Amino acid sequence: LEKKILALESQVPKSYPDVKFLNYLSRKRILITGGAGFVGSHLVDRLMLQGHEVIVADNFFTGRKRNVEHWIGHENFELIHHDIVNPLFIEVDEIYHLASPASPPHYMYNPVKTIKTNTLGTINMLGLARRLNARILIASTSEVYGDPDIHPQPETYWGHVNPIGPRACYDEGKRVSETLTYAYAKQENMQVRVARIFNTYGPRMHMNDGRVVSNFILQALQNDVITVYGSGDQTRSFQYVSDLVDGLVALMGSNYTQPINLGNPVEHSIIEFASIIKGLVGGRSKIKHLAQVEDDPQRRRPDITRAKKYLNWEPKVDLNAGLHKTVNYFKHELHRFKHSQRN
Ligand code: NAD
Ligand code: UDP
Repeated sequence: LEKKILALESQVPKSYPDVKFLNYLSRKRILITGGAGFVGSHLVDRLMLQGHEVIVADNFFTGRKRNVEHWIGHENFELIHHDIVNPLFIEVDEIYHLASPASPPHYMYNPVKTIKTNTLGTINMLGLARRLNARILIASTSEVYGDPDIHPQPETYWGHVNPIGPRACYDEGKRVSETLTYAYAKQENMQVRVARIFNTYGPRMHMNDGRVVSNFILQALQNDVITVYGSGDQTRSFQYVSDLVDGLVALMGSNYTQPINLGNPVEHSIIEFASIIKGLVGGRSKIKHLAQVEDDPQRRRPDITRAKKYLNWEPKVDLNAGLHKTVNYFKHELHRFKHSQRN
């Protein structure tokens, strides 16, 4: 055993990506709930590279240690296995509250838990922010607009949500999360930020995510049938993850306290999107129409006037460039998966 310990001690220390040096006045301690997930892990990278101290709290329901493993052991980084339905006692300057399943199959898997995460979890994070007088940013969603009857969707639109449908656990969960945020802000005089995030894609999406981007790319890469739910006339507007991270950081740093849409306004029908992916990946996949999904929003596109005006933000990455990186990521994941099956 002693020999083994000596061998471990003599190992070359792990090298990390270079982080900026910030003195103690500008360096913040930042909590990211859900930081081991898809969006959260990209936000971790951004804030770590900027030289901040980052603490991730995640219950690993849909997140993975692998998404942040390149920071594990770094003196500025801490990963806590924690379910935010339970209170968390730590000291931080800022909170990005992202913990919540985001893809329909994931949030419908345990609807009660989804509601608890977005209500009790948000209360816990707001309570933490209140105690610490920390600024808190809540990750809300375009789903608060439901199946919208106004198009594109501005932040002033109140939405059209079925309160008892299959998506309600998420949609209403996020709506209550927003309501809680503004109730705390008013009652406790807190600094809050609310991002209404539209469909986002990019590397580190989960292979079993079940959302349209990952499904179509994986299907095309494996020459499987591309599954379009319903007619495919329903639309979505897809933003690349680095654009979202830019927007989240800009929002946290701004003085703007009302909800703000973060999304790419370029809109595509789902059937069009299937052809785009097929064209990009190549292969022999056929497009097949399956049954329509219950309460599937028919049109979705952000009005980003507010974000442009108050954050000076707009998306930079076009769909082709973003999809190219995402396809490469999924190719790599498939390879890894097949390799691990053989071993
Ligand atoms: P994701 O599923 O990859 O990440 C969510 C993370 O939260 C995961 O790491 C998961 O393990 C963690 N989590 C879930 N429940 C938790 C709990 N009770 N306690 C602690 N951790 C918990 O999803 P994502 O796409 O990265 O989404 C991040 C946030 O952005 C979510 O709040 C989501 O609602 C919001 N959002 C995302 C999109 C999108 O297109 N990706 C769109 C709108 C809103
Ligand atoms: N969709 C599809 N095939 C799939 C997955 C999704 O046609 O394999 C459709 C889905 O019905 C919806 C759109 O693609 O109209 C976006 O679905 P996703 O689950 O990605 O996100 P949503 O915006 O609905 O939360």
